[in-house]
Amino acid sequence: MTERRGSGPSSAVIVAVGSELLTPHKTDTNSLFITDRLNGVGIDIVQKLVAGDEPRGLASALRYAMTAADVVIVTGGLGPTADDVTRDVVADLLGVPLDESADIVTRIRARFEARGLEMPEINRRQAAIPRGAEVLPNPAGTAPGLWLTAGGCRLVLLPGPPRELRPMFDRLVADRLAAAAGGRRVQRRTIRTTGRTESHIDELARPIYGPLAARQPSVSTTILASLGQIDLHLSTVGADPAEGGRVLDAAVEELAGVLGSCVVSTDGRTLPEVVGELLRRREARVAVAESCTGGLIASRLTDVPGSSAYVHAGWVLYSNQAKVALGVAPGLIEAHGAVSEAVAEAMAEAARVAADVDFGLAVTGIAGPGGATPEKPVGTVCLALAARGAPPRVRRVQLPGDRERVKFQASQAALDLLRRALLRAPSTGS
Ligand code: ATP
Ligand code: MG
Repeated sequence: MTERRGSGPSSAVIVAVGSELLTPHKTDTNSLFITDRLNGVGIDIVQKLVAGDEPRGLASALRYAMTAADVVIVTGGLGPTADDVTRDVVADLLGVPLDESADIVTRIRARFEARGLEMPEINRRQAAIPRGAEVLPNPAGTAPGLWLTAGGCRLVLLPGPPRELRPMFDRLVADRLAAAAGGRRVQRRTIRTTGRTESHIDELARPIYGPLAARQPSVSTTILASLGQIDLHLSTVGADPAEGGRVLDAAVEELAGVLGSCVVSTDGRTLPEVVGELLRRREARVAVAESCTGGLIASRLTDVPGSSAYVHAGWVLYSNQAKVALGVAPGLIEAHGAVSEAVAEAMAEAARVAADVDFGLAVTGIAGPGGATPEKPVGTVCLALAARGAPPRVRRVQLPGDRERVKFQASQAALDLLRRALLRAPSTGS
């Protein structure tokens, strides 16, 4: 609670109100949105609480929240029905009466009238304002938000529906909290990598990011692992964005230097976006021949707007017959099996020739749960890239996980094979 030491709010608690949020059917997503916005101005979320529509529980959550942080953001329970108790509980807690605002009644009535309806009497509840509260208009709904201060704590009440809360937060709350927080701002960078494990990335990066955390302004680093991808998130908090930017850029450069060719991007771009940009720059086109990925590579490549400039064609060659029909020699399949480096290479070349393009990218593998042999367990995937006027690149990888995870990681490895070829980097990062 730095504020009480005089430097603006630095901590917040979010209280999500709604009994439905305590069931398996509804997740509190408002707090994710609010966390992102508050972190952006250097306010840390120290706790999140979820309370049902029951006054006693909500009261104790709020009482606690106000002792734990400089800012308390409450979402939900501002509706017109009897189970919407946030207003009443807050008034009670602060020991102030609820006054009906004639202005808000008029506004709510107008909303109903605009739809040819009469305002139900219960909606008057939404015009009840704890005395001393400032009203935050809600352009997308009937419940206005409320801004109160009590004992040095800012208490902000916002409606539960995300489509109402989000614009209200951005228009009416974010700037005021940012100003109160003294113009501090969080800046971030992301280093996206693929092809190495989390522990390998950490081993390489820790000697650099460790000392960065101790310097001033300090850069904090978190490693976020998702399927087939490890991201390093760097951030710094400060009042001088130019200095923050310089410090982060230097950190990114240093880290990217040691991580080498496994770095996909440092500007947030995805692997398919990066591959697309490299193809576009080379004015090259690609065709894909996919077995176990079932079209996922083509799908991910074409997720990127403008991909028609470099994606030419794709085939799902699931059966041996289909592989042969596109040009894979039947003898190759008999000799090596459909999941083999030789067949992957032949598929890639067949796709490249059939489409008459610069690159042919192919995948064949065992996604499981069936189809495994002792030599080729589930997760065995062969990848190949055929290139006009250059030797093919072929890899065999062993991927962990179930069918869906194997498919995604296989698509990731294939896209990375293409990325590396376009960068003229070695086919693997390790
Ligand atoms: P209303 O006037 O719609 O009753 P309210 O402020 O009373 O608004 P709630 O009744 O608590 O809000 O919630 C309305 C709807 O908003 C819920 O059904 C839910 O779909 C959504 N909602 C509420 N809280 C959250 C939350 N924390 N995260 C995501 N969605 C939420
Ligand atoms: Mg409600």
